Amino acid sequence: MAKMCNSCGTVVDDNFQNCPNCGAVVVAQQTATPNMQQPSYQQPAYQQAGVYPEQKSKMAAGLLGIFLGAWGIHNFYLGNTGRGVAQIIVSLVTCGIGSIWGLIEGIMILTGSIKTDANGIPLKD
Ligand SMILES: [Zn+2]
Repeated sequence: MAKMCNSCGTVVDDNFQNCPNCGAVVVAQQTATPNMQQPSYQQPAYQQAGVYPEQKSKMAAGLLGIFLGAWGIHNFYLGNTGRGVAQIIVSLVTCGIGSIWGLIEGIMILTGSIKTDANGIPLKD
């Protein structure tokens, strides 16, 4: 059985403690899964670059939540359509008592407890 160098990927004979290619110490337990790598989750290009094409406004989302949170408007704004619909239903069913849910979320947005929209894109100040 051969093992694989963690540094350069060279397949190293079991008899060697060090990689002949780069000199790194090769650990034997890597043998079983020579292709073991992190799951190849590809981040969207804009996240890799740290640039977001359409950041939504934290202030707008927060104010929408505080004033129109009963109707889930801030969640529609952020793309959380399902949650927005749920807030409308909760507000109707509870005769408006449940509208405090949206109000609280609006405050959480303004205080930074909610930092991203439905796509995980950070809200801009
Ligand atoms: Zn190596």
